[in-house]
Amino acid sequence: MKTISGQKASAGIALGKINYLRRRKKDISAKSIDDVQKEIQRFEEAVKEAVKQLEELHRIALEKMVSGEAELFEVHSMMLTDLDYRDSVTNIITKEKTNAEYAVSITQDIFSQMFLDMDSDYMKARAADVRDVSGRLLDILQGNSPVLISAEKPVIIAADDLSPGETVQLDRNLILALITSGGSSNSHTAIFARNMGIPAVVALGQELNEGCDGKEAIVAGEEAVVYLEPDRVTAETWAARQDADKIQKTALAGLIGLPSITLDNREIKLFANIGSPADVDSVLANDAQGIGLFRSEFIYMESRGFPTEEQQYAAYKKVVEKMQGRQVIIRTLDIGADKQADYFKLPHEENPAMGLRALRICLTRPEIFITQLRAIYRASAHGNVAIMLPMVASLWELLEAKEIAARVRCELKAEKIPLGIMIETPAAALISDELAKEADFFSIGTNDLTQYTLAVDRQNSALERFTDVHHPALLKLIELTAKNAHEAGIPASICGELGADTELTRAFIQMGIHGLSVPPPAILPIRKHIREMRVD
Ligand code: PEP
Ligand code: MG
Repeated sequence: MKTISGQKASAGIALGKINYLRRRKKDISAKSIDDVQKEIQRFEEAVKEAVKQLEELHRIALEKMVSGEAELFEVHSMMLTDLDYRDSVTNIITKEKTNAEYAVSITQDIFSQMFLDMDSDYMKARAADVRDVSGRLLDILQGNSPVLISAEKPVIIAADDLSPGETVQLDRNLILALITSGGSSNSHTAIFARNMGIPAVVALGQELNEGCDGKEAIVAGEEAVVYLEPDRVTAETWAARQDADKIQKTALAGLIGLPSITLDNREIKLFANIGSPADVDSVLANDAQGIGLFRSEFIYMESRGFPTEEQQYAAYKKVVEKMQGRQVIIRTLDIGADKQADYFKLPHEENPAMGLRALRICLTRPEIFITQLRAIYRASAHGNVAIMLPMVASLWELLEAKEIAARVRCELKAEKIPLGIMIETPAAALISDELAKEADFFSIGTNDLTQYTLAVDRQNSALERFTDVHHPALLKLIELTAKNAHEAGIPASICGELGADTELTRAFIQMGIHGLSVPPPAILPIRKHIREMRVD
C-alpha cells in the first residue's frame, strides 16, 4: 500500500479502481508497414470504436439537455462514415505503405485546410470538427483514453490536471472520485466536485501517474489522502467510515422542510450553487430554498460553438420549471481565466484572472450578452428568475449592463425581474454603497474576492498557505458590503465557497447576511449547524 497526500478539494470517501486519463500523445510519425490490409483493418476498427463513443456521448448529451452538443456528436459520426475521408486514409495507407496514425493525421490536415479555404464562416468552422474527429481516431489508434469517454462502471478518475471544460463533460454517474497530481482546491474543478458531492483530492504530485491506472484505491476527501492498493485492514476501516457517513446523511434528511433558524430565532436563507441543469435534482433532494448561483458559463464550456438563444432558453427553462417557484439566480456568462471555450478565441493574456473575462467580455461583445439575456428573460416567464452580473468593479459597468438588459426586456415585452451583482472585487465591496442604489441584490463571491484581496492566484496550489480565507481584510469587506446593502434595503448573500464554512456562519448572521448559497450537499449540514446555535 502507498499513501499519497494532497490538498482537499471535496469531502467524502470513495473506494474503487483508478481510471487514469491519459493525454493524447503528440508525435505522430510515419512508420512503414508490411501488411496493408491489416493496417486498413486497424483503421476500420478504430472508426467503429469512434462511432460507438460518439453514440454514447450523444446519449449523455441528450440526457444532460445540451442539445447543441448532442447534434455535434451526430455530425461527427457522419463525418467518420463519410467515404471521402475514409478513402483518403485508406489510399494513403495503401500507396505509402504507412501506418494508420500517419494516414489519419495527413487526412486531417488536408480536410481541415479544405474547409478553412471555403468562403462561408460556417464551412470554415467545420475544420475544427475534422480535427476533433481525427483526434478521436488517433486516441483510439494510440490507445489513449480520451477524457470525455465514460467507463463502463463507476471509477476514480485520475489525471495530471483537469480543466473545468473537461470536468463538466465527464459523466457524473460514473465518477466515484476525482484525483489529480496538479490543481488547486480553489479551482473550478474542485468547486465542480463539491457541487456534485464527489470526493476529490488535488495536488497529489508525481506519485499519482499513469502507472496507477487500473489500481485499487481509497480516496479520503476530508483528509486529502489517497491510499493506493490498500491493504485489507485499511480498506475495511474506510469502508466502515463510508457506511457511517451514509448513516449520518440519512439522519440529516430529517431536516428537510425545516427552516434554517437559530435557537434565538435568527433565520438565514440557504440556497444552492449549480453549474448545469443536471445539478437540480441534488438541489431539490437537499431542500435548498432556491438556486443562489447558476454558473451559466458551463453551458458555454460544454458546447463546441456559441450556444444559441434556443439552446440556452431550453436549459434555463428546464431548471426554472423544476424549481417550481423557488428562486433561480442565473449568473451571466463568467468565461475567461481558467474557464475557457476555444470558440471565443480570447487573446492570450499574461494575467487572465485580471483580464478580459466575465462581464468585461459581455460589455465588449454585446451580441453574446444579448443572446444570453434574451434566453434568460424568456425563461423567466416560467418561474422565479433573477439575473446576476459577475466581476463588477465600477458603477458604469453595472449601469451599461442594466441599459442593455432593459433594451432586451422591452424588445421581448418581458416582465421586470431582479437584477443583482456579485461582489467579488475589492473595488465593488468598497463602493457597495453606490452600487446598492442600482442593484436589486448583492451576492458576495468570496472565491474571487479572496483572490483579488489577498493577491493569491486561486489556481496556484503553491499558495495554499497564503490563502487565508478568514483574513480580517476579507471579513471587513464582507461586513462593509452587508452594511451597505442593509442601509439601501437590498439583500446581501454569500455564494462563494466561504458560505459553507460553518466556522463563520455565526459571524455572517451577525453581519446581517441574508442568505448563503452553497454546494447542494452542504445545505443540510449547515442547516443542522444553524438550528443548534445561538447568535447573540
Ligand atoms: C466567486 O468568485 O466566489 C464565485 C462564486 O464565482 P466563481 O467561483 O465561479 O468565480
Ligand atoms: Mg467569481
